Amino acid sequence: MVVMKFGGTSVADQTAVERLIAIVRAQRQADAQQEGGDARGPIVVVSALSKVTDRLLGIAANAGAGDIEGAQTNLRDLRQRHKAISKVIVDAVQREQVIQFLDQEFDGLERIVQALAVLREVSPRWLDAIAATGELLSSRMVAAALRAHGLLAAWIDARRAVVTTGDHTAAAPLFPETTSALMAHVDPPLAAGRIPVVGGFVGATTDGVTTTLGRGGSDYSAAIVGACLGAGEIQIWTDVDGMLTADPRIVNDPFVVPHLSFAEASELAYFGAKVLHPATIQPAVARSIPVRILNSHRPHARGTLITGERPPSSRPLTAIASKKEVSVVSITSTRMLMAHGFLRRLFEVFERWKTAVDVITTSEVTVSVTIDDRRRLPAIMEALSEFAEVDAEHDMAIVCVVGEGLQSDPGLIGQVLQGVGDVPIQLVSQAASRRNVTFVIREADLPHALNQLHGQFFAAEPAPAGLA
Ligand code: ADP
Ligand code: ASP
Ligand code: MG
Repeated sequence: MVVMKFGGTSVADQTAVERLIAIVRAQRQADAQQEGGDARGPIVVVSALSKVTDRLLGIAANAGAGDIEGAQTNLRDLRQRHKAISKVIVDAVQREQVIQFLDQEFDGLERIVQALAVLREVSPRWLDAIAATGELLSSRMVAAALRAHGLLAAWIDARRAVVTTGDHTAAAPLFPETTSALMAHVDPPLAAGRIPVVGGFVGATTDGVTTTLGRGGSDYSAAIVGACLGAGEIQIWTDVDGMLTADPRIVNDPFVVPHLSFAEASELAYFGAKVLHPATIQPAVARSIPVRILNSHRPHARGTLITGERPPSSRPLTAIASKKEVSVVSITSTRMLMAHGFLRRLFEVFERWKTAVDVITTSEVTVSVTIDDRRRLPAIMEALSEFAEVDAEHDMAIVCVVGEGLQSDPGLIGQVLQGVGDVPIQLVSQAASRRNVTFVIREADLPHALNQLHGQFFAAEPAPAGLA
């Protein structure tokens, strides 16, 4: 059984949904051929329509600022866009029902937004209730569209399928509870030969309060569902041909990496390769489920396959990930040398303020860390300054170069660092695994540094365009 996740651009409009239907149909037929009459699935996980989550968060911001008119205008636009697409992707039989569902959700949203605009405060709990609407709507629409095209789809309310902690806007799945929920709500339609369609990104606490898994979290939903139900493969359908050797928005000529190990993929995802949510790999690793990244615009392209191990490659480096909008916090012990317990106190501060640190480097007296969530930085700096001198630099970027060659060739790290040319490097870190080298530069230098580095180590695409 395969879990197929379609990202925002893969459900953006009528054409995208038609492509999705063809892809799901092909998978269904392939499964039926392989398994005979007992084919199960696939399970379809969908994101909100392209850009809808951003718009919904914008509406929440309108409400928080007391801007009722702004919120209403934006809501009206969104309602219209969903209705217009529904009218063309859903057949006459289901249309009324789907439009009614959309109206009911948008009416509810309007009431919430009005109340919040009066209070001028949007708590994380309400932010989740608003943001989750995108996936609840898109999944309902896609289920109806699949049915309209003769595929037996069943809409599943994600709030009944994925059970999470109450950490709003970044909830974590509760695996035993989610497995039970999936057995109760998703397994029966699967067993009856139907194709469950569930919104990604969304879950609910054991008390039924709506939560979300964090931005880009639909990939994570697919992996959670796949792991809990023991899927044979998790497919991430997106708008690029797979995991590319570098971010295509920054580097001119990146190409597809055909095969990645779980470890490589998780490092690339963690350090900025947006095509995969960093947490996605974790449930897949636990169950050794292969993950495939595929392009819904070019369904026959080979894509990227991610498995526990991968065959050796002739290239010393696999790919480069990068992450913008990073801050470097440098903490210098006021007692000159790192007193006993200094590191513990230091990291306790970040833990207390629930702020994850990514890269860490230490010298005799200074510890530098990078963070990408600056919301609690003032409080963190205040707490750190009780026992250290603290300094923060913003507008920085992390570059993470991944490759097995870093392990086998001790000279490679030097070549990589030289590869960025005259761009000043602030921090460098290499883990004991020596699978990657990570460094921090100014964000303004990122395009130049990445293109230099990429040009040097990924000069030409090894294989033809990657068509199967
Ligand atoms: P979806 O909506 O399908 O989840 P995302 O926008 O989250 O899609 O992720 C796909 C995008 O990730 C691509 O369009 C690309 O711009 C960006 N991206 C960044 N780094 C990489 C990379 N190394 N390989 C592929 N895509 C990348
Ligand atoms: N719609 C959500 C977001 O934009 C989740 C996702 O697309 O993965 O963050
Ligand atoms: Mg995504």
